[in-house]
Amino acid sequence: MCADIRHFANHHAQLSETVMQDSPIQRLDPELIARYDVSGPRYTSYPTAVQFTDQFDEKSFARAVGDSNGAPIPAPLSIYVHVPFCRQLCFYCACNKLVTQDTAKAVEYLDLLEREAQLHSKLVDPDREVRQLHLGGGSPTFLDDAQLERLIGILDQYFKLNRQGEWSIEIDPRTVTVERMKHLAKLGFNRVSFGVQDINEAVQAAVNRVQSLEETRACIQAARDVGMKSVSVDLIYGLPLQTLESYSETLDEVERLAPDRIAIYNYAHLPERFKAQRLIQRHQLPSAETKLSLQELIRERLLAAGYVHIGMDHYAKPDDELVNALHNGSLQRNFQGYSTHAECEMIGMGVSSISAIGNSFAQNSHRLPEYRERVLAGHIPIIRGLHLSEDDQVRAQLISQIMCQMKIDKDDFLQHFGVEFDRYFERDIHALEHQLKQMQDDGLLEPYDTGYRVSETGRYFLRNVAMCFDRYNQASEKFSKVI
Ligand code: SF4
Repeated sequence: MCADIRHFANHHAQLSETVMQDSPIQRLDPELIARYDVSGPRYTSYPTAVQFTDQFDEKSFARAVGDSNGAPIPAPLSIYVHVPFCRQLCFYCACNKLVTQDTAKAVEYLDLLEREAQLHSKLVDPDREVRQLHLGGGSPTFLDDAQLERLIGILDQYFKLNRQGEWSIEIDPRTVTVERMKHLAKLGFNRVSFGVQDINEAVQAAVNRVQSLEETRACIQAARDVGMKSVSVDLIYGLPLQTLESYSETLDEVERLAPDRIAIYNYAHLPERFKAQRLIQRHQLPSAETKLSLQELIRERLLAAGYVHIGMDHYAKPDDELVNALHNGSLQRNFQGYSTHAECEMIGMGVSSISAIGNSFAQNSHRLPEYRERVLAGHIPIIRGLHLSEDDQVRAQLISQIMCQMKIDKDDFLQHFGVEFDRYFERDIHALEHQLKQMQDDGLLEPYDTGYRVSETGRYFLRNVAMCFDRYNQASEKFSKVI
């Protein structure tokens, strides 16, 4: 993320937050739902990965890293490592993963990651500190204790890791014991997120992810016992067989588990794109109306339980760093969702991972054979990416402000870009004004003296608001439904 985006997001952050949490939710009528239930990006980046092209290659990436090293004060780094292996297939899965029982695959993968880390280290200024480390997947805990230790050793060898930084790992509770949790803490991990999705047994069976409440409870307790600073739980709504009643029971249990953060994702059923999802019975999926009711239920329950609602789909306890980031304007939305440390630039390693350096995105190959071939040939395995134009940067900042701070502030815009908002969007201003007016009439936006605030009802349609500023008009079936 470029420095301007971060600065832009800082302005008036607190004002936006305090107003939002207290506002009532307007009951949604079916016409409103129908009008806005289109397909659209989740905006974990702008432009989205759909715009990446193969014109951006390893050389472009090397230039971007060189430029970024040459900044007067180079940004600190965040490292993301993708571990693509899983032992079992969850039917809802849209991740880049490889289902296998063969742990030997991880041995070769670590060899490749070591080569890739070495290649990155030749480009990155060695003085740049790594403040944030995130292991995602797939299932990072597919790696055994010795393999995880080796991975940390590799990163330690090639980068300047800050051991007081934020080190997080995604955990499949079915693969972690109390002893393993102790080992993760010993390696330096201080934040964990557990995949839970739903506690109801029928829902778990319908998505082929059967995980007992006892396993989840034991993991969370173990994480607390070893002193993890933040414990997060991932849930999904919109899965087959979910009802308001069943989800209410899931929320009862989640409240008892009392994680510091809860990320509740909207299941996107795209069986044409994700083969695993063809195993889900379409007729068992909840309707768009039920999904909205689920969202309302989730929000009511979690606010009553003392959580703060962040952006579209995250909740956190008031003393969690994510809430601090919301308040001080440093909240960002990146490929991992809502996150702290917006000051960092990201290096992604492993199959399909994405780097965000300077004003560029660069993505590694999705396919393990191609990833292997390129790394073994001595190349950072980038197959596509994008250098953001000035217009991309402006729109990225606006979209970030909408997704994180839930507002469009014309004064901020003028301050940071030196041009008036209406003037900048002159060519589209009539269409844009019409869209914003419609959203205002529909109760999604509330005007204030220097712009618009997204209402609590509008929170459910944040992606629609952001799409107003998306030059690539991304209402496409490639993306998931907004609701
Ligand atoms: S949802 Fe997660 S654990 Fe399940 S198959 Fe996909 S990546 Fe693996």
